[in-house]
Amino acid sequence: MKERGITTITLKKINKEKVYQYIYHQKQTSKLQIVQDLQMGLSTVSQNLNELETEGLIKRCGYFESTGGRKAQIIQIVDDFKISIGLGILKKMFHIVAVNLYGEAIASETIPLPYNNTEHYYSQLAEEVEHFIQNHHYKQDKIMGISIATQGIISPDGAFVTYGAIMGNTEMKLSDFSSKLPYSCHLEHDSKAAAYLELWNHPNLSSAIVFLLNRNLGGAVITNHIVHQGTYMHSGLFEHICINPEGPMCYCGNRGCLETYCSANALEIASGFSIKEFFSFLREDKNTTLKQIWKDYLDHLAFVIRNLNLVIDSPVIISGYLAPYFQEQDMEYLLKQINASAPFKLNKDQLLVGTHGQYTPAIGAALYYVKEFIQPSI
Ligand SMILES: [Zn+2]
Repeated sequence: MKERGITTITLKKINKEKVYQYIYHQKQTSKLQIVQDLQMGLSTVSQNLNELETEGLIKRCGYFESTGGRKAQIIQIVDDFKISIGLGILKKMFHIVAVNLYGEAIASETIPLPYNNTEHYYSQLAEEVEHFIQNHHYKQDKIMGISIATQGIISPDGAFVTYGAIMGNTEMKLSDFSSKLPYSCHLEHDSKAAAYLELWNHPNLSSAIVFLLNRNLGGAVITNHIVHQGTYMHSGLFEHICINPEGPMCYCGNRGCLETYCSANALEIASGFSIKEFFSFLREDKNTTLKQIWKDYLDHLAFVIRNLNLVIDSPVIISGYLAPYFQEQDMEYLLKQINASAPFKLNKDQLLVGTHGQYTPAIGAALYYVKEFIQPSI
C-alpha cells in the first residue's frame, strides 16, 4: 500500500514537472497543445495546470487568434516567479543584475565600489546588494541566490580564489559574501561566467572559443556543451598566451601576453583615451593614428584566434565589454586577418559577437541558479 502511494505521488510530480517544462520551452502554449504533445489525458493536464497556477508558476493571459472554433487560452510561465542575482566584481566597481527564469536581465546597475579584501568592503557590497533588491521590490523568497563573478581562478570546490593577481583577491572566499548576505551564494571565474552566457544564448553550439574583451582580457573553451575547467581550473586563459616574448610586462610577471595587447586597458593605454572616447573618435573617420591602433589590436587578436582554431576547430565568440563596439567592418577585417595565413579557413558564420557588453559576467554567473531551478529534478 505504502509503495503504491509513493509511486502515485511521484508520478503526479513527474507529470506536473513535464507540463511545466513543456510550457517553459514552448514559451506560449495552449491546454490542447499540451494534451496532444505530451499525450496526457485532458483531466490530468487540467489538474496540473490548476496546481501550477495556484502555486504561481504559470499564468494564463489572453487568447490565441482563432483558427476556427473556440479561441485557445494562452498559457505561459511566470518568468519572474524566481529570480537570480548576478554580480560582476571589478577593481573599481561592481555590476549587479537580476535575471529571470529565461536568463534575461530584468534589471542592471553599475555601482562604484573599489575592491578591497576587507570586512568593510564585503559589508558595503552586501548593503548595496540589499538596496538593489529593495529598490526593485523583490521579495526575499523570490531570490534563488547571489552568484558572484570575479576576476581570478576559483578553487575546484568553488570556495575561494586561488589566483587573483589583478585585483589582489587571492584567498577571497565565498564565505566573505555568504556570511553577510541572507541568500545562497556562489562564486565563479568571470570569463567562465561569460562563457555560460554565450552557451545559453547559443544552445546549439557544442564547442566554442570565447574571448572576454573586458578591462582585463579573459577567455574560455567550450567543448561538448560544457565550459572546460582544466585540471587546475586554468583552461582557456588566453590572456596569458605569449605573442611577443619581448613585449610589455603583464601582471602575471611575464612579457608580451595577449593581455598587454588586447585587453580594454591595453587599448586605453595605447590610445590615451577612455574606451568610449576611443571608439567615438575612431568612428569619426579622421584620426589615422587611432585607426592604426585599432588595426594593431585586431591583428593581435586575429593572430591568437588563428592559432587557437588549430587547437579547437570551433566557432569563436567575441564577448564582454568591447563586444558591442565591434561593427560589421571590424568583423570582416578580423576574419580577413585570421584567414590571411591560416591553413584552414574560418567561415564568416563561425565568428560571433556577444550582445551583453559589460554585464556579460554578471548575467552569466546568475544563470547558475536559473539552471538549477529549471533542470528537471526527477
Ligand atoms: Zn600574462
